Amino acid sequence: MFFDIRGIVLFWLVINVMLTVTNIAMYFRYRKRFEGLLFWSVHMVLQVTGMTFIFLRGFIPGFVSVFLANGILALGALSLLVGLELFVDRRGRHGFNLAAIAAYLSVMACFYWVRPDLAVRTVATSALHAAIAFQICVLLLRRVPCGLRDITRITGLVAGVYATVHFTRMCFLLFVPPETNEMFRSGFVDSLFLSCILTLEIALRLAIIMMLLRRLLETLERTTAEAERMAVAAQTASRAKSEFLANMSHEIRTPMNGILGMTGLLLETNLTDEQRSRAEVVRSSGEHLLRILDDILDFSKIEAGRLDLEVVEFDLRVVLEEILSIMGPRIGEKGLRLRLSIDTDVPSSLRGDPLRLRQVLNNLADNAIKFTAQGEVSISVEVAGEGAADVALRFEVRDTGIGIPLEKQGALFEKFSQVDASTTRQYGGTGLGLAISKRLIEMMGGEIGVTSAEGRGSEFWFLARFGKASETWRVLPAGERADMNPLTAAQTRARLLVAEDNSTNLQVALGLLKGLGLHADAAADGAEAVEAMRKHPYDLVLMDCQMPRMDGYEATRRIRSMEGPVGAVPIIAMTAHAMPGDREKCLRAGMNDYISKPIAPRLFVEVLRRWLPSGEDAPEEARIPEETAAERSAPAVSGQEHEFASRVWDRTLLLERVLGDEVLAEDVLAGFLSDLPERLAALERAVAAGDCAEAANLGHSLKGAAGSVSAEALMVVAMEMEKKAREGDLHALGNILPAVMWEYERLKSALEKE
Ligand code: ADP
Repeated sequence: MFFDIRGIVLFWLVINVMLTVTNIAMYFRYRKRFEGLLFWSVHMVLQVTGMTFIFLRGFIPGFVSVFLANGILALGALSLLVGLELFVDRRGRHGFNLAAIAAYLSVMACFYWVRPDLAVRTVATSALHAAIAFQICVLLLRRVPCGLRDITRITGLVAGVYATVHFTRMCFLLFVPPETNEMFRSGFVDSLFLSCILTLEIALRLAIIMMLLRRLLETLERTTAEAERMAVAAQTASRAKSEFLANMSHEIRTPMNGILGMTGLLLETNLTDEQRSRAEVVRSSGEHLLRILDDILDFSKIEAGRLDLEVVEFDLRVVLEEILSIMGPRIGEKGLRLRLSIDTDVPSSLRGDPLRLRQVLNNLADNAIKFTAQGEVSISVEVAGEGAADVALRFEVRDTGIGIPLEKQGALFEKFSQVDASTTRQYGGTGLGLAISKRLIEMMGGEIGVTSAEGRGSEFWFLARFGKASETWRVLPAGERADMNPLTAAQTRARLLVAEDNSTNLQVALGLLKGLGLHADAAADGAEAVEAMRKHPYDLVLMDCQMPRMDGYEATRRIRSMEGPVGAVPIIAMTAHAMPGDREKCLRAGMNDYISKPIAPRLFVEVLRRWLPSGEDAPEEARIPEETAAERSAPAVSGQEHEFASRVWDRTLLLERVLGDEVLAEDVLAGFLSDLPERLAALERAVAAGDCAEAANLGHSLKGAAGSVSAEALMVVAMEMEKKAREGDLHALGNILPAVMWEYERLKSALEKE
C-alpha cells in the first residue's frame, strides 16, 4: 500500500505557493521593519521551485528533478536558518553549513550519475535537513525574543520534531533501504515519512508567519503606546501654551482697559481739535486691539478647556435686537440693507448662553458686513427640531459680498485661516473668529457650515440646541402682565433708591420696579442720593452716572466712604455710556454692576436678582463678573441708532421695556412728550449760545429719554448731537439741530396717528 506521494507534493505545492505570495507581500510591506524577511522569501521561492522540479519527476530531465531540485531545497533550508537568525538578532557563521551542502551535492551527483542509489541520496538528504532543522530548533529555543516567547518556542519545537522525523527516516533507510530507485514508489514507510515531513514543513512555515504577525502586532502596540504618550505630552504642552496665552491676554487686557479708560477721560476734557483727533485714534486703536485680545483669550480658553458655557434663561429676540443695534452703524456707513427674520414658531424664552450665542452671531454678521460692499446682509432664525424640553434652532447669516472660493471653504473654520493674504491686508482680522464660533457651536451641541459662491455672497449657517425656559421669563405680549415674579419673596421686600435726573428714565425705572413688586424712592441727583442714604438703609441703589450737581461716580465714592453696612450697599450703574472705559470707570468709582440704557428689562431683572439680598446668601463680591459686564456693554447705545433710524417709534419695544404694562407705557410717553418742548428749547438756546458743554448734557439726556420710550430716530440724532457737542463742533451742531426738530415732528405725528 502506498500514499500517493505526487498528490501530497501537489497539495504541499498549492499551500506553499500561497504562503510564498504572502511572504513576498510581507517582504515588500515590512522589509524595513524586519530583518530576515528577504531570506524567508528567498527560502519560500527556493522551496517551491525545488518541489516543483521534484513533482515533475518523470516529465523533465532526471538531473533537474533529482540533483538540481535537492540542491535548491538545501540552499532554501539554509536561507531559512539565516532569516531566523536575523529575526532573533543573532548572526551565525555558515562555513560549516556551506561545506555540508557542498558535500551533500557531491554525494547526490555521485549516487545519481556514477551509481544511482535512492537510499543513499535519501539518507544524505534527511541528514542535511535534520542538521539544519536542528540548528533552527536550538536557535529558537535559546534565543526567544521578548514578547514572543510562546510562538517562538512552538516554532522551535516544530523545527525539532521536523529534525527528528528526518533523522528517524535517515536511520530507518540505513537499515531498511527502499526496494526501488523510484522516489514516488519507495515503499509505505518512506512515503509515510515523506508525508510527515511535508506536513511539518507547512506547519513550520505557518508557525513562522504567526511569529512574524505576533512581532508586528507587538511593534504596533509599542508604537501606539508611544504615539499615545507623545499625544498626551503634546496635549499637555499645547494646554500649557494655551493657558499661558490665556493668562497673557488677560494680563494685557488689564492695562489696555487702563489705556482706554484714561483715553475716555482725556476725551472728556477740553482738547484742541488736533489733540482730540489723536486721542480718538488712540481710543479706536485700543478698542481694536482689545477685540483681538478678546479673540485670543477666548480661543486659548477653549483650547485649554477653561471655557464653560453658562446656562441662563434669556430672550432670543432681545439678543437678536442687540446684534442689529451693534451692526446698525456699520451697515449705515456702508449703505447696506440689514434684514432680520424670525419664524413665528421660534420661542423667545430660552435657556442657554446668550453671551456666546451673541458672540457667534456677532462674528458672522461682522464678517458679512466686512466682506460686502453693496447689497444686503440678512439674519434669519427658524426651528430645526423640537423636543419636550429643548429646541434646535437654525440661524443663517447671508450676505451679497465677495463670497468664498469652494476650495477655500474647507479650512475656513480652522484657526488662523483666512481665504488669502490679500484678504487679510484689505480687510484685517485674525482668522480666529470662525474657529471660535465653531468651537462654541459644538459646545452648544450644534454644527456650523457655509455655502458660498465667489462673487455672489455667502451664507453661514449654524444649528444650536437650547433649553426651553420657564414661563416666568416669557416676554409678555402687550397688555399681558406677569403674575409670576422672578424675584424671591425676600427680594421683593427690599427697598431701593433710584438716582436719576432724567424724568422719563426715572419713570421707566420706577415703573419697572413697581411691576416687579419693589418699593423704590427717587433722588434727582447724586447729592440727593447721598443724603437719602444717610437717612434710610436702602438695600440697593440704581445710580445714573451723569447728573447735575453731583454725578453718580462722586455719589458712589461718598456712599462707599460711609460707615457700616450703608457703605457696602450694592450700587448698580445705569448709564447710556456703554464704552469699555465707562464700565471700568463705574467699577473704579466703587459700583458693583452695570446696566446700559435704554434698559433691557430682562437684563434689569437679571441684575436685580443677582444683587438684591435673596434672604439666603448675599452677593459675596463687590465686582462685576467679567463676562456679564461685557455682555451688558455690548448693546452699546452708540450702536442702536442707525439700525433703528428708520423707526420713528416702536410701540412693541416700548411695551417690552415696561414688561407689557400699557398704563405705565402711556404714562412714560406722556411724561416724555410734555417734557420734550422744554428740552428742545433748552437745546436750541445752548446751540445758539455756542455752549457745547450744555448742548452735550442736553443731547445726552434727550438720547436717554428717547431711547427709553423707543423713539429711536430721535435718539439717533440726539446721540449725534451729544457726540458733536463733546467734540466742540459748533458747525455740526447747527446742522443737526434741524434734524432733531424734524424727528420731533415725525414722532409727534406718529404718536398722533396711534
Ligand atoms: P477674521 O475675519 O478675523 O479674519 P474669521 O475666522 O472670522 O477671521 O474669518 C476667516 C476668513 O474667512 C476671513 O478672513 C475671510 O477670508 C473669510 N470669510 C469669513 N466670512 C466671510 C464672508 N461673509 N464673506 C467672505 N469671506 C468670509
